[in-house]
Amino acid sequence: MKLSIDQNKKRIFFLTFLISYKCTNECKHCAIPGSPNQDDISMELGDVKRYLDDITSNYIVDEVGFFGGEPLLNFNLLVSLIEEVKKFNIPKIGLPTNGYWGKNDLTAKKYALKLKEAGLNQIGFSVDAFHQEFIPLDVVRRAIKAAHEVGIEWIGLVSQILGPENENNQFNEQTKNITDILSKEFEFCEVIKSELQVRGRAANQLTEYFPMMTIPSDRCLIFKVPMFMIDPNGWVFHQLCHGICIGNANTNSLSEIISDFNYRKHPIIGKLVAKGGPKNLLDIAIEKGYEPLNGYADKCHLCFSARNFLRPFYPNILEPSNLYF
Ligand code: SF4
Repeated sequence: MKLSIDQNKKRIFFLTFLISYKCTNECKHCAIPGSPNQDDISMELGDVKRYLDDITSNYIVDEVGFFGGEPLLNFNLLVSLIEEVKKFNIPKIGLPTNGYWGKNDLTAKKYALKLKEAGLNQIGFSVDAFHQEFIPLDVVRRAIKAAHEVGIEWIGLVSQILGPENENNQFNEQTKNITDILSKEFEFCEVIKSELQVRGRAANQLTEYFPMMTIPSDRCLIFKVPMFMIDPNGWVFHQLCHGICIGNANTNSLSEIISDFNYRKHPIIGKLVAKGGPKNLLDIAIEKGYEPLNGYADKCHLCFSARNFLRPFYPNILEPSNLYF
């Protein structure tokens, strides 16, 4: 049976463009870490056109996402990028947002309508104790309402939980209160809660809320799933964990970077997927002079701490500086 061209192509479940590291907030848990003080670099339309031409010639892409920082901060650029992705008939086009743009009903509706008309069909509102430290609930409420009124197909309430969901702490209690209020008011929303991983700003600001008793040695297996992110510098990393680069799409073709990627052979990822997981990175870091803590909040805390120390030894791999301290 002769396979059609598409049937020959491999799949990418999720391809994400990180528009900019800038955000309105400085949430305590942020892995990016987004901030108003991050540098001004942002994704270029020309680069995205090139990446899409290249990747869709060789792969089937199920979903494209636009991340930040806060992706709506570069609103006109975002709209032109969504319109560009729409031309490639990629079924799902989405983004996470903190909803800061729900300043009033008129503004919220204007933003939501432009996103919808450009082709956006998925939107996740980040709502929890960490985001509501910066964004009043009424503001995000207006943004959710507007997204629904203009007919965006999928709307989610996305929350980060500190420790297991049933663990009683100040953050989880506040987050439960926030999502209970919003999910009751907006029944059309899907509620998604995930346990936060202690990396990025969380590694600096949230470790006091964890027992920190162990040196985790469980493997990290996220790299088996074909999901990729490209940042404004062209760095390509796994969509679920940023800062471990598999190449730069400004110097090599994105398709080549992805087809050549073998997670077992990567100098850092190979250590993480192997027996011992992030503890393998710790051993390398100690050899190079790193003084370890007595314990870590979770495997991501250990991994991020070791990577942060090892950056000078892995140029063009542990990048960019926006993601490290
Ligand atoms: S263990 Fe490391 S690579 Fe894996 S998700 Fe955590 S921080 Fe990322």
